[in-house]
Amino acid sequence: MPELPEVETVRRSLAPRLTGDVIASVEVFFDGCVEGSTPEELAWRLEGRRILELVRRGKYLVFQLDDGASLVIHLRMTGRLILIPADPVELHPHTRVLFRFRSGKALRFDDQRKFGRVMWFRNSTSLKRRLALGVEPLDPAFTAARLGALVKGRKRPIKSLLLDQKLIAGLGNIYADEALFRARLLPWRPAGELSWQEVEALCAAIRDVLAEGLKYKGTTLRDYVDGDGRTGMFQERLQVYGREGEPCPRCGGAVARVVLGGRSSFHCPRCQV
Ligand code: ZN
Repeated sequence: MPELPEVETVRRSLAPRLTGDVIASVEVFFDGCVEGSTPEELAWRLEGRRILELVRRGKYLVFQLDDGASLVIHLRMTGRLILIPADPVELHPHTRVLFRFRSGKALRFDDQRKFGRVMWFRNSTSLKRRLALGVEPLDPAFTAARLGALVKGRKRPIKSLLLDQKLIAGLGNIYADEALFRARLLPWRPAGELSWQEVEALCAAIRDVLAEGLKYKGTTLRDYVDGDGRTGMFQERLQVYGREGEPCPRCGGAVARVVLGGRSSFHCPRCQV
């Protein structure tokens, strides 16, 4: 599932080529991916609108429009946004929405598993209320003090706290496991029991692993590609995620997997405490 580095990589690949362009038409091939309005209303709202800016909040892509509204796309499990020429347009069997632009470009939203969502919001207030996202972990506001305030008094496992988008926006299973490995913390440790040193180490680990993921243009395990259909390269640098039974790169012990809150958690039982 695309996490912050993957969504940000998609944003970076699309933003320079879509900013300033005007949406000419919107075709919806799978109604279920449109949330909050009907496909007809979505098309009516979007047609003729200019894209002022493409930003990211957590794992969401936000196209800011010239009337103060925004188009929000959530890739979820298998969503892909692919920029293609509009004439002639080439659809994919999994194309759910097609956006055509005045410049002659088109943006295809393909989604095999159909969990991805396309949403329209009237203004930034309605957008914030619906997404209700926590702090951006690559923002300067994400400090050890901020993370410390989030974990304080919480009994839930640190891993599940890291995945809670209302607290920290953008981390998913892969980068949470990698950050906990780097900070030498077991995923099921109660969040409120972390020491100050552990909070500092975890804050730094989260920032480092996300920055590195971005540098290598994301992790492609199955479906993820950027706006040009290119895969990421961070999968080659994963230290524990998906590596059950392989040697831990730090101590040589075997990487283990436990299921925590319904999700696989990869860790090293020898050097994470
Ligand atoms: Zn180890």
